[in-house]
Amino acid sequence: MKDLRSLFCIVAVVFGLSVGTFGWDDSGHKLTAYIAWQRLSPEARERVLKVLLTAPEDSTIGSYYMPYGSQEVDARKRDYFMFMATWADVVRDRAFPVRYRKYHHSNWHYDDVFWTIKDGKIEVLPEPEEGGLALTKLDEYVKVINSSATDAEKAVAIAWVMHIVGDIHQPLHTSARVTDREPKGDQGGNLFLLTPEGTPRDKQENLHWFWDSIVVRNKANTGNDCDIEFLEPLAKAFMKKYPFEKIRDRLAVSNPDAWAKESLSLAQNSVFSVDLKRFEMPSKDYKKKGLKIAEERLTLAGYRMGEILNRAFHASTPSTTSPN
Ligand SMILES: [Zn+2]
Repeated sequence: MKDLRSLFCIVAVVFGLSVGTFGWDDSGHKLTAYIAWQRLSPEARERVLKVLLTAPEDSTIGSYYMPYGSQEVDARKRDYFMFMATWADVVRDRAFPVRYRKYHHSNWHYDDVFWTIKDGKIEVLPEPEEGGLALTKLDEYVKVINSSATDAEKAVAIAWVMHIVGDIHQPLHTSARVTDREPKGDQGGNLFLLTPEGTPRDKQENLHWFWDSIVVRNKANTGNDCDIEFLEPLAKAFMKKYPFEKIRDRLAVSNPDAWAKESLSLAQNSVFSVDLKRFEMPSKDYKKKGLKIAEERLTLAGYRMGEILNRAFHASTPSTTSPN
């Protein structure tokens, strides 16, 4: 049965590679979901799982659950839940055009405030029409999971909630910095290159990528470990560093706008710190500070995700399974 377990690891890796990084990378989202899972009551876990498995077939949400294998059933459920935090990126895969057209929405992954520095001060600029919708969609989907919607509708909503909560904790998912070089905004640091000017496109590295993958690059999965073997010690270390009891007063569970504001402030003050230079890889000191910020953001995101799902599914009235 070990083969089945390996197969699942390989499947996870293949999906991870094929979707690229858009928001915390694959591992960032899974770390956040692992932390949320630790916070879920047994009842909420069962309800969330049951709801996810009733997802519309064309979403493929239910198809990732392995009903058997060598792993303990609880571990299988946890790993499936962790994978679900990446579903919104998985659906970017154009090899599945029906799913892509119906479920992929690139501007649901961020909610960027346009800003610039004028006379040494941060100035917020008017938002263009085609801005990010992460906060709007998060609000809508949190309402869905707390409503009497069908379980199938709630399944898609859970997957989006899990993903968006993670994304808006990445500081650059809330920021569009405007400069002379980037008069229409820097696309969350995607246009801010860290590789020398003139580097061929396929070798360029940018600030958005740097932040998306900061945790994993610091502790690369060099072995052939399953995701969980690599991620679990990391998540446990984060939770030890930032215990729930110590930061529960900061959770503001019903106020995702406040989470996005925290992210924006970090983007303005810490991501674009004075020592960050265009066309240069960030210094050791910058990386160290960045890693600390990322660890705290991923942990907060996990606790917040856990609270949202506990509130909705712990002792909740079972919703209808089909539309009336
Ligand atoms: Zn995303």
